[in-house]
Order: sequence, then C-alpha cells, then structure tokens
Amino acid sequence: MKDPDHLIKVEKAIQEKYGEEAIRNPKANWDQEKEKKYLEQIQIITRNQKPREKIEVEGVLLPKKLFTKESKRTCPVCEVYSFIMRDDLYMAKFMCCYQCYVQHVEGREEKWLNQKSSQKKN
Ligand SMILES: [Zn+2]
Repeated sequence: MKDPDHLIKVEKAIQEKYGEEAIRNPKANWDQEKEKKYLEQIQIITRNQKPREKIEVEGVLLPKKLFTKESKRTCPVCEVYSFIMRDDLYMAKFMCCYQCYVQHVEGREEKWLNQKSSQKKN
C-alpha cells in the first residue's frame, strides 16, 4: 500500500457524500449496512490495483481506473447520464445506476449479476 492515508481520504469523501445524499433524498433507502458494503468494495478495488493515474473527485484523488471506459457514465438500463460517484460504483458492480439498482436489482443481486454475465457471453 503506497499511501495508507489515501484510502481514509477516499472513504471520508464517500461517507460525506453518501450522508449528504441520504439527507437530501430520504427515498434513496441508503443505510449503514449498504454503505459499509460499498466502502469495502472500494477498498478492494483500490487495493487490487496499482494506482498510476489519479483523478480528482471532490478534492480527493481517486485511481483513474475507477473512471475508465469500464465504468460507463450512461446507465444502460434507464439511459441516464450521470456523474454521481455513487452511480459510478453501482455501474461498476451492477451495470446500472443507483436508481436502477433500487428499482430492479435490490434484493436479487445474484440473479441480476448472473443475468448480466450470461448476456456478456452472448
Ligand atoms: Zn439507470
């Protein structure tokens, strides 16, 4: 690990952002458990890559890999273009934005992912 403080900074920024959005948008159904899950996700992503290039998001440097073509900015489900970091996370994990996650994926994550990976093979 190059910079142990880096993860803390990333976490803090995300926590702040999620907290803010939960207050602004109570319908978002965000809870501590999910937040924890996704923070862990980010840690894994961050840990497993060699950060070469970084992009600044809200004052925090994040590995560029999180923002490459693999993380699409347009949700393939609802076709909404988003620059919200949270959508980016859901996009990377579930191939849809957060709103679509809540609508279509929540509670059936495994089924969704299986469906998505079989679509990729075709
Ligand atoms: Zn969507």
